[in-house]
Amino acid sequence: MPAVNTVLVVGGGLAGAGAAVHLAQAGVAVDLVEIKPDTAALGSGITLQGNALRELRSLGVWEQVQAAGYAFDVTGIRAPDPHGTVVAEVPDAKTGGPDLPAAMGMLRPELARILLDRATEVGVKVRFGTTHTALVQDADGVDVTFADGSTGRYDLVVGADGVRSWTRRALGVNLETRSVGMGIWRAFGPRPASVTRTDLYYGGPSYIAGYCPTGEDSLYAYIVEDAQDRSALTPDEQLATMKELSRAYHGPWDEIRETLTDPSRVNYTWFETHVLDEPWNRGRVVLIGDAAHTCPPTIAQGGAMALEDAVVLAELLVDRSALDQDLWDAFHARRLERARTVVDASNQLAQWQLDHVRGDIPALMRSIAQLTSQPA
Ligand SMILES: Cc1cc2nc3c(=O)[nH]c(=O)nc-3n(C[C@H](O)[C@H](O)[C@H](O)COP(=O)(O)OP(=O)(O)OC[C@H]3O[C@@H](n4cnc5c(N)ncnc54)[C@H](O)[C@@H]3O)c2cc1C
Repeated sequence: MPAVNTVLVVGGGLAGAGAAVHLAQAGVAVDLVEIKPDTAALGSGITLQGNALRELRSLGVWEQVQAAGYAFDVTGIRAPDPHGTVVAEVPDAKTGGPDLPAAMGMLRPELARILLDRATEVGVKVRFGTTHTALVQDADGVDVTFADGSTGRYDLVVGADGVRSWTRRALGVNLETRSVGMGIWRAFGPRPASVTRTDLYYGGPSYIAGYCPTGEDSLYAYIVEDAQDRSALTPDEQLATMKELSRAYHGPWDEIRETLTDPSRVNYTWFETHVLDEPWNRGRVVLIGDAAHTCPPTIAQGGAMALEDAVVLAELLVDRSALDQDLWDAFHARRLERARTVVDASNQLAQWQLDHVRGDIPALMRSIAQLTSQPA
């Protein structure tokens, strides 16, 4: 018998949807609340590394992910010169194993739709547009009140509600989330035929300019600069700013720039980081994914770490018969150091760029590839 029979998952991102699917597949009764109104509201594009794809396969959605996304095995490095000259083509590590692509770009709303459809298929009760307003736990369970006035009692609550986790706050867990010092412009749009993989342009007026195909007809493009307060800009001014910054970059960027016409497809955010020390649970409430650890996307591992948290937690809850300290110890032993190592490496890559230091990037990337190639 699993350690839990009833679970509330808060948040329908990668961590929440992943945990919900695995638990429901094992016969646990799972409710999931997502504060956003629908999957269409869940972001722009994401790069999934092989170890994320391995976990998506374990969730039973690999075929749909493969059909919707855009796989590639090599990352291009281009110069910020008038031709966007390719200076290197770096084979990406196949961290999910030889039978999966090294990486895949996807539209986030599409990925969210696939995962939450899967959750519903395996019996998770998914509710959009609501959240919890009170969590009261005793030795045997957690009483939850929801924003719509409904209530429930659960053996466990999984807080998978992202970097500004409401659940973390409700638990009174203090965690300082700090800016890494970089901000990113992101836009999604049509994929020119010349874009068949991620290319990164280092240098020029920004730290990085890049793009990632997310499907046959789509891509997302991004430019990383010093973190600035861009909040006063109107949507039109945001679009103009991203377009202006992109003018230093050529090759496929010349075509992408022409498609940057819709202000609603442009977004600006800062890179942030935190790692919660052990424990990630307070009694019968546990934090996973970005709620517990977050990193700048310099290695594009945040999504993979969120999925891995979900899978490991669900595996322990299903394989063990008691929700006791042994279970939590096993969870932290498998997750904390691995997540911290990825966060530290992601921050190091950002810091080298901020300091204009030529760090040993290949060695760092090799060590992360070795780590993430091992199943979580
Ligand atoms: C600019 C940027 C680019 C990134 N690029 C990549 C990338 O290319 N590849 C990669 O692997 N990672 C990337 N990441 C990191 C990645 O997005 C996260 O690590 C990952 O999404 C974490 O998943 P999660 O499920 O923990 O959190 P989230 O994806 O944030 O999901 C949390 C969910 O909880 C919901 N929610 C929030 N509050 C509540 C509430 N009170 N009640 C109910 N629901 C709630 C949210 O709406 C959301 O759906 C990037 C991050 C940033 C900031």
